[in-house]
Amino acid sequence: MSLLFEVAKTSEGGGRRAELTLPHGVVQTPVFMPVGTAATVKAVEQGVLERIGTVARTPMSQKRDMGHPDSGPAMSGTGAEIILANTYHLYLRPGHELIARLGGVHRFMSWDRPMLTDSGGFQVFSLAKLRKISAEGVEFRSHIDGSKHFFSPEHSMAVQIALGADVMMVFDECVETPASWERTRDSMGLTHAWAERSKQYWVEHRGEVPWGEGSGLRAQGPEGETGEVGWRKLSGPWGLGPGPSSSHQALFGIVQGGMYADLRRESAQRLMEMDLPGYAIGGLAVGEAREVTREMIALTLEQLPKDKPRYVMGVGYPDEIEEYARMGVDMMDCVLPTRAGRHGLLFIREDPKDRRSAVVRLNIKKLDNAEDQRPIDEGCACMVCQRYTRAYLRHLFASGEPLGATLNSVHNLAFYLETMERVRGDLGPARTAGVGGSG
Ligand SMILES: [Zn+2]
Repeated sequence: MSLLFEVAKTSEGGGRRAELTLPHGVVQTPVFMPVGTAATVKAVEQGVLERIGTVARTPMSQKRDMGHPDSGPAMSGTGAEIILANTYHLYLRPGHELIARLGGVHRFMSWDRPMLTDSGGFQVFSLAKLRKISAEGVEFRSHIDGSKHFFSPEHSMAVQIALGADVMMVFDECVETPASWERTRDSMGLTHAWAERSKQYWVEHRGEVPWGEGSGLRAQGPEGETGEVGWRKLSGPWGLGPGPSSSHQALFGIVQGGMYADLRRESAQRLMEMDLPGYAIGGLAVGEAREVTREMIALTLEQLPKDKPRYVMGVGYPDEIEEYARMGVDMMDCVLPTRAGRHGLLFIREDPKDRRSAVVRLNIKKLDNAEDQRPIDEGCACMVCQRYTRAYLRHLFASGEPLGATLNSVHNLAFYLETMERVRGDLGPARTAGVGGSG
């Protein structure tokens, strides 16, 4: 078992309210996933990530820790339920083998909720230097020290298995943009061949995950104690809550095809034939017009299976993630909330009382915030808006204080999570009596 995906309801517009059960926990979808590039969501520590949510307008002291397995049915608005880590970065530093020896990335960074790793492909093609691409894989030089490395689909899988996230991604070629139809088609062919090889390696080696059945590093839980979907609740020596036993990682395919509708359809069909646990739509938000992004997502969603999770990689602004979620995208990730936060750009609602009003960007470093006693967003229930003024945040930013980056990032992440919480609320309740998990 690698995942369980239960769709409770699909709206007229295509939006789906579902629950995604992974080895390390249940994720309410549609979901936004904060990006933890180097096993850290920049400037935000894990304990804060777990309670960053904003749904309960109650004092902090009354908030229950919904992440705890015994605190009742999973509820949203209680922190990030799943985060990303980047394979390329962790492979280079500190190294996937070191992380595997320490029990996998969950244990390494003390995060016991679900995680997803990308394949490393995107960074190899965007960050690394002197790439040499062949049918076998990609040779590249590290952007850190210039050292030479080689990534093949098999090697990407081996690295991702060593890291041990709940969901890993097939290794694919990311074509430059804009690219001609012919160039995109050829790249897509390579991507499909690599997806096949990724799947083959995953099937043969998935038991080698640091927390898997075959691993000596797996935490030992009380005998016979099983979770709702047959996964043992572990209480390992490091106290990391529920964990997996007879479960393994899920592998998602990535639909490519650039900005060409026929290639997107073909790519989706080819990947569906591989019958993978989930599907991502890649190669978007790379500079194309937003209408094009939307069109590519819409036509790809039409092709993809209705009973598997669908993930759009690397998007987007808060209004975009809302739009795509309502179209039927289940998972999204983006560095924008934290990156913008570090640059002093904060997302707020035009009318703070109306959480459906337009998204506005507040530039905290502007002088008119210097004596502003209001919170960033008066309608936001996040821990930053409950406590700090714009004046203080401007001072932190202007002084280059690291706390400024942290607080800005926390608010922006809360803003994203709140947006998805509202979308989920509109779509309706998720099935919670999931024993057996059929249908
Ligand atoms: Zn806030």
